[in-house]
Amino acid sequence: MRSESHKLLDTVVLYLRNAARVTVLTGAGISAESGVSTFRGSGGLWRDSRPEDLATTHAFMNDSLRVWQWYEYRRELISQAKPNAGHRVLAKWKTTFQTFSLITQNVDGLHERAGSRDLIPLHGSIWKVRCLNNCIKSPASWTDKSVPFNRLPPLCPDCGSIVRPDVVWFGESLDYKNIEAAFEASRCDVFLSIGTSALVRPASEFVKYAKSNGSFTVELNLERTTISDYVDISVHDKAHTSLCYLDEGLMRK
Ligand code: NAD
Repeated sequence: MRSESHKLLDTVVLYLRNAARVTVLTGAGISAESGVSTFRGSGGLWRDSRPEDLATTHAFMNDSLRVWQWYEYRRELISQAKPNAGHRVLAKWKTTFQTFSLITQNVDGLHERAGSRDLIPLHGSIWKVRCLNNCIKSPASWTDKSVPFNRLPPLCPDCGSIVRPDVVWFGESLDYKNIEAAFEASRCDVFLSIGTSALVRPASEFVKYAKSNGSFTVELNLERTTISDYVDISVHDKAHTSLCYLDEGLMRK
């Protein structure tokens, strides 16, 4: 890590030491070191298709088999991935600060596997499915960790309709309870936006809300993003490297 990043992170440590309420928003970048590719980075394409063209209701209605084949590929990849040091630091921070909130756009479940609890899962879970027909016999959504499924597309055990991944696709609305909880959590002393391109709304709004309410705002990302000039400090490095440095700084107090 460059000394320039160290200096910036040392300042973040000072703010974290004095913070009672800390909130973190994560995106695909935090799982990149676990081998789960981001949507917009290299490895994002699947059989020449862009994720933005697959993760939509339109794509699913057009060709549910193809969309499910893509999900099966990702479920396989994620089932073999392990949480990395960045996920572990965030799981630990639950007991480091008086109030710690974790908001994630990720659907991979790696935060939970690292030990994070009570997080705000904005975009659902790749391990949950729901009946496309909303049949009254099946639950609203249920966990199915089959990799691979017996058949594709998988069917609802109650009515035989196709099931869909219980994730929020591009163009779909988020659960308002999660949005409310995320805005509430964004009223904090320090807000960190980690490994997200900050392009997908409303997730990109939380950091702005936090700053307008007086939070010290930080971005940890490999590259510059649309919020890099907006936040108080932007550090360009791997998420797990920066998080481990911050955690070591906090332990030195
Ligand atoms: P994105 O793909 O748009 O952007 C990822 C960001 O992570 C980029 O800004 C990139 O510079 C950064 N990055 C890449 N490697 C990094 C690293 N090692 N350390 C720090 N930063 C790194 O992802 P997003 O902003 O989360 O996009 C939103 C959508 O993508 C969400 O809907 C989310 O559900 C979905 N998604 C989730 C997963 C997952 O669950 N792991 C993976 C891919 C996409």
